[in-house]
Amino acid sequence: MNDLEYKKKVLDAISPSFCAAKWYNATIWLGSGQTTSCHHPPAHAIDATAIKTNPKALHNTIQKKLDRSQMQRGLRPAGCEYCWKIEDMGRDAVSDRVYKSKIYPIEALHEAAEIPPDDDVDLKTLEISFDRTCNFACSYCNPAFSSTWVNDIKRNGPYTDLKSDGRNHFTHAHNSSQLYSFGEHNPYVDAFFTWWESDLHKTLDELRITGGEPLMSGETFRLLEWFKNNDTDMRFALNSNLGAKDELIDRMIDASQHMKHFHLYTSNEAMGPHAEYIRDGLVWDDWANNVERVLTNGRIEGFHMMCTINALCLDSLDQFLECVMNWKREYGKDYPTFTLNILRFPSFQSPLVLSDELRTQYKFRLQAWLDANTNDECLHDMERDQLQRLIDYLDIVKTPHMGAAEQSVLQQDFKKFYTQYDQRRGKNFTKTFPALAEWYNGL
Ligand code: SF4
Repeated sequence: MNDLEYKKKVLDAISPSFCAAKWYNATIWLGSGQTTSCHHPPAHAIDATAIKTNPKALHNTIQKKLDRSQMQRGLRPAGCEYCWKIEDMGRDAVSDRVYKSKIYPIEALHEAAEIPPDDDVDLKTLEISFDRTCNFACSYCNPAFSSTWVNDIKRNGPYTDLKSDGRNHFTHAHNSSQLYSFGEHNPYVDAFFTWWESDLHKTLDELRITGGEPLMSGETFRLLEWFKNNDTDMRFALNSNLGAKDELIDRMIDASQHMKHFHLYTSNEAMGPHAEYIRDGLVWDDWANNVERVLTNGRIEGFHMMCTINALCLDSLDQFLECVMNWKREYGKDYPTFTLNILRFPSFQSPLVLSDELRTQYKFRLQAWLDANTNDECLHDMERDQLQRLIDYLDIVKTPHMGAAEQSVLQQDFKKFYTQYDQRRGKNFTKTFPALAEWYNGL
């Protein structure tokens, strides 16, 4: 069954807004005590009292129970706007609710549809973050997820005059994202390990560790030890920026030798100096070298490149995809695979901020790349579909997403943000992106 058939015959047959991620998937940030069902809806708070007696409340929050109830009745939870926007594009567009549901057995979807909304549900897939310690400060990230971003704000003060940053991502250190200091007792981490040891390790098909940079957290290595000492078929995934010290990369490669199903996820979406500009802290040669070290020495079942599609990466995305294809041709079709996730926040860094002319130019470049590679046996159907979806997005979606400011405001914020970013980070926008210089200077 292809994705569209799956949407129509399986998901929409349950309800037109049904998504299994609301039941079986979670991202949980233990540093801030927050959770969400996938990357798209905003995070919300976990009840700190409830987890003392019921660690499953780390996932089964009141908000998720309300969203589940809406989905069972065919209503669209507001937090899932990303999916509704894609589906409303027409052309039988397929949103992430298909990809996020497809991974579970169809019987499990039918079970979820019948579960009373107040009941707790056991997780099948979980992404967890222990803290926000990170050596990178990417332009589309913020202090909530990176301690290096915190240092930028503490050292240089808030970013000023950004009109569309209604949530104030760049104006303060987000102290609520790290409720407990290094070495301090964190009840959310305690609840996680209690749940892990009692039954979470039995119900999970997949555990994914994210950050910050998880290789900089001691709790990550505590879990890696568990895997060393326990035989399990669970898929273990790690999100790493692959910019950590050699010693930590070596420890990860060593840990992979003890695992049956180790999957590594890393993020990048642009080439060389473009990547170093967008993902501040990344050194292209070191990163590319680490990709090859892991591919050569790790015992890895899967290697995945997560591309966050923002306004700046489009200038070298086709070259980056070519680089990914070259690794695939050398190491195999799955080494790495890639996904293209269109950035929504911060909205002034979205591809929709670009002029029609630039967007059209990038659309044609990506179409040319796709035409040249579409029959390459190393390209997965899902990768081809995601690239086509991005091309359609650049072609059709002209207005910013619901709730975002209008394009002229976003463009002004784009200019203001990168002017300050250049000063704080010792970078130079127009030198790094000469093809965007005329448009940028005219903003
Ligand atoms: S945003 Fe989409 S994929 Fe995520 S939980 Fe909502 S419907 Fe599912």
